Amino acid sequence: MSNQVTSSHHVRDTFPAYQAGAGWNALLPARAPHTQAPAGHSFDVIVIGAGFTGLAAARRVAELRPDASVLVVDATTVGNGSAGRNSGFLINLPHNTGMGGHGSPVEVARKQIRLYDIGLKWLHELVTTHGIDCGWNPVGKYHAAATPDGEQRLRDTLAQYRDWGVTYRELSRDALRSEIGTEYYGYGYHSDNNVFVQPAALVRGLADSLPANVRLWENEPVVALEGTGPFTVTTASAQLRAGQVIVANNGFARKLGLARDRVFTIYTYAAMTPALSADELAKLGPAREWGVIPANRLGTTLRKTLGGRFIVRSAYSYEKERPMADVDAMLTDAYQRRYPQMASHKFEHVWGGVTALTRNGALYFGEVRKGLFTSLGCNGAGVLKGSMFGKLLGEMACGHHSPELADALGFERPTWLPPEPIRRVAIVSAIQYQKHRAGLER
Ligand SMILES: Cc1cc2nc3c(=O)[nH]c(=O)nc-3n(C[C@H](O)[C@H](O)[C@H](O)COP(=O)(O)OP(=O)(O)OC[C@H]3O[C@@H](n4cnc5c(N)ncnc54)[C@H](O)[C@@H]3O)c2cc1C
Repeated sequence: MSNQVTSSHHVRDTFPAYQAGAGWNALLPARAPHTQAPAGHSFDVIVIGAGFTGLAAARRVAELRPDASVLVVDATTVGNGSAGRNSGFLINLPHNTGMGGHGSPVEVARKQIRLYDIGLKWLHELVTTHGIDCGWNPVGKYHAAATPDGEQRLRDTLAQYRDWGVTYRELSRDALRSEIGTEYYGYGYHSDNNVFVQPAALVRGLADSLPANVRLWENEPVVALEGTGPFTVTTASAQLRAGQVIVANNGFARKLGLARDRVFTIYTYAAMTPALSADELAKLGPAREWGVIPANRLGTTLRKTLGGRFIVRSAYSYEKERPMADVDAMLTDAYQRRYPQMASHKFEHVWGGVTALTRNGALYFGEVRKGLFTSLGCNGAGVLKGSMFGKLLGEMACGHHSPELADALGFERPTWLPPEPIRRVAIVSAIQYQKHRAGLER
């Protein structure tokens, strides 16, 4: 294996380097990462990125081609990427998306729901088969609004739910107060289409139960991707070759020359309290676990966890992490406004995470050129979506056809993004406008 001399500045630029680790990962016991370079330098398939998308793709290729050699390379250790930084909602409904496709919006939504349901069943089987202790809890989710504009958005969503055949339960301010312990929201609903997980535990469990023909290499950023099959994949310390490459490093695929005019990255932020006493937990309502999705995308997500902690997620910043002290202050304020009755609003962990967005909410999915496959642009809801589309991408790489893959390929494609600096101006203005509109949903 050749030793590639790559400047450390260039390497740091090719993957998300965070100011703080995620709380979820910190709660788990230490794990020995696979940091040793593989013995060979040539593989049938190389997967770039060990998040939900990359792990699902690698698993599926290995299942369908048990003789193939598969390498998964990640710039950080499993659980330290966005896959271990999120709020742990596995939402099996279209979410944060305007994804259209061939057919009416109702047909497209129903196709998506069918894919998510298949993905959820597949993930659940993996969790059960491999005994992944990730707190899998199918208790649904709340959506709640604190403003008239937010309430109207929720009512519009419910009109879609009726078209899609999704059931829900509406809640008044009083009902919400008795279920989640706050008077902050005037209107909301609960739907069953969600499972909670400890995301770092899930992604670790998936990585550590890969089939025997998959080799995982962590802490090894990919810095360049060249060729047309065989491909040359240059990492910080090696030059590798593969007949096929699956690019699953989400927004950072742009650093490898892909999807530059379709995908952009946004940082969003979360904080977790210490384990709370029984008295404090009772102030958050009687259920052991619940979560709230805000009525505006720029609003605040809440989650009470099985482990007796409380999590607050909010805010967006374009392409760059905000200073953690600002984030802490902003999330503390969001917590205090909703739960002034808590004895303390101190967090034990505060962190940021990157998520890749497209202009119209569509995934950048499929075979980009012969032998090169991508699924990028999770649009902030990629735990389940990444797993399902990663699985389908693995099937596509194996030449496997299915009605699900046909549906995935029929969805709308990401629309064009203007180049910088126009892009920055447009996106930052859109964030500012939505932030203003979100008002008390923040
Ligand atoms: C605070 C927060 C809350 C969220 N809440 C939710 C939620 O509740 N539900 C939900 O569905 N989604 C949520 N998301 C989004 C979710 O985390 C992502 O959609 C999901 O992680 C996407 O999975 P992925 O595998 O496509 O990409 P990622 O999880 O981003 O994985 C990509 C991997 O590629 C690696 N990588 C990057 N560059 C390189 C490189 N050059 N070389 C090698 N490896 C590289 C990264 O280290 C990473 O491990 C949230 C995100 C954040 C930040």
